[in-house]
Amino acid sequence: MLTGIRLVSEAAELAARRHTGQQRKARPNEPYVNHLAEVACLLSAATNGEDAELVAAGWLHDTLEDTETTREELTQRFGLRVAGLVEECTDDMSLPKNERRGRQVADAPKRPPSAKLIKIADKVSNVRARIFANPSGEQREDLADYLAWAEQVVAGCRGVNAALDALFDEAVANAGSAM
Ligand code: ZN
Repeated sequence: MLTGIRLVSEAAELAARRHTGQQRKARPNEPYVNHLAEVACLLSAATNGEDAELVAAGWLHDTLEDTETTREELTQRFGLRVAGLVEECTDDMSLPKNERRGRQVADAPKRPPSAKLIKIADKVSNVRARIFANPSGEQREDLADYLAWAEQVVAGCRGVNAALDALFDEAVANAGSAM
C-alpha cells in the first residue's frame, strides 16, 4: 500500500487527470484542480503535514461525485481509509440540489473527525472562490446563498481543528465585507 509522499503524489496525479477539462463553478476561468490543490494544502497545513491519507483524500474528495472514478478503485490504490473519507464527502447526485444541501447539514455532525476537516476545507475554498473585488448582482446573490448554507454545514463540523475553524471564520468575515 502506498504511504506518505507517494500516496499524496499519486492521489494528486489521479485527481488532476480525472478532473481534466472541468472548471470551478464560481470561477469558470479557473481549472477545477485549483480547488483540489487548495483543499489539500489547507488540510496539510492544518495538520502540520502529519496525515498523508487525509491530504490524499483532500485531493480526491470530488472524484466519486464529479468523475468516473469508483470507490473500489480508490480502495485498491489508496486504501480503505482514503476511499471511506472520499465517500463521506460524496453527495447522492440523484437527489435534487436542495435535498443534497439539506443532507449535508443533517449529516455533518455524524461524520468522522477527518471527514469533518475535509468538509470545512472544502467550504473555505468555495467561499473564497465566491469573493470578488467588484461583484455583480448575481455574484453577490450566489455568495450570500452559498454562505448561508456553508455556515450550517460547518457548524456541524467544528471543534476538531481550531486552525481550520478559524480559517473558515476568516473567509466568512472577508465574504461579509465583500457583500
Ligand atoms: Zn470540493
